[in-house]
Amino acid sequence: MTETNATSATNARESKAVGFVGLGNMGGPMAANLVKAGHRVSGFDLVPEALRAAEGKGVRPAASAAEAVAGADVVFTMLPTGRDVLGLYADEGVLAAAPPGTLFVDCSTIDVADARAAHEVVREAGHRPLDAPVSGGVFGAEAATLTFMAGGEAAEFAAAEPVLAAMGRRAVHCGPAGAGQAAKICNNMILGISMIAVSEAFVLGESLGLSREALFDVASTSSGQCWALTVNCPVPGPVPASPANNDYRPGFAAPLMAKDLGLAAGAIRAGGVDAALGLRAAELYAAFAEGRGAEEDFSGIIRAIQERSGKGGGSV
Ligand code: NAD
Repeated sequence: MTETNATSATNARESKAVGFVGLGNMGGPMAANLVKAGHRVSGFDLVPEALRAAEGKGVRPAASAAEAVAGADVVFTMLPTGRDVLGLYADEGVLAAAPPGTLFVDCSTIDVADARAAHEVVREAGHRPLDAPVSGGVFGAEAATLTFMAGGEAAEFAAAEPVLAAMGRRAVHCGPAGAGQAAKICNNMILGISMIAVSEAFVLGESLGLSREALFDVASTSSGQCWALTVNCPVPGPVPASPANNDYRPGFAAPLMAKDLGLAAGAIRAGGVDAALGLRAAELYAAFAEGRGAEEDFSGIIRAIQERSGKGGGSV
């Protein structure tokens, strides 16, 4: 048997019937990668263009979410908000259309409480729930290099893992229902706060007469080192591939960071956690995303800080 035949034999053996609801910036390429891996994917999106684009990548277009999940072994949802996910599940036609015991994997980034509610609804309908939000962005969705962080029963995670492998490089089982969303929110809170910290340091350095190159060379090899500095550096120059060198085109769009920090802020308040920086970062990103940051990478927040500081952002 040639390698190609062996691969297709493996694919055929593992081929699953997949329902995919939400074929947008993330869901579209994720569904396409499932097709590439040999799964039979039936997809649905409210936006006809999204459905057509997915059809072009081998996804069978369904006329409704219920049609997409009918006969599925696994159903993926990749929707904007928790309200969308719960709204979809509340549509009785959808859960009823899936065969009993279907694995429902929600990859959207949503509130932990909504994720737990989604688990309950899916379980009550006789199915198997998993929350599995992702890190890696649109590039990771296209390149099948996403990281999945999952919450739910170990058996559900084990069943999902081989299918997730077609869309990502890593899947981490974080704990019970909602734990994947909790990990996502906490990770992105670290990222949002650290991007603000790095940006403030560059603006402060500039006001002290320090060149951005000198600050980068020191901080990137010292205790200030972090992803926001060494991969997504908010000033042009030190990291050529960072969005700062491309007029802050995303990358990871500021409105998505604002959304994730909003979810973190809600959880901080609900839990009575003393997370002053998380709350402040949520405020700063909400204001940035509503204004000039609406179309920018989240590292563009440095320009808002420069403006408020009366600094031009030029190299010194
Ligand atoms: P998107 O807006 O591009 O896609 C969402 C899609 O869901 C849209 O095409 C919309 O028409 C569709 N939709 C909404 N309600 C629906 C319904 N009831 N039935 C069928 N389709 C429906 O958003 P996205 O960028 O793909 O993000 C999806 C999720 O992934 C969000 O929760 C986001 O926070 C998260 N996320 C996004 C990124 C990113 O870089 N874009 C990275 C990590 C996580």
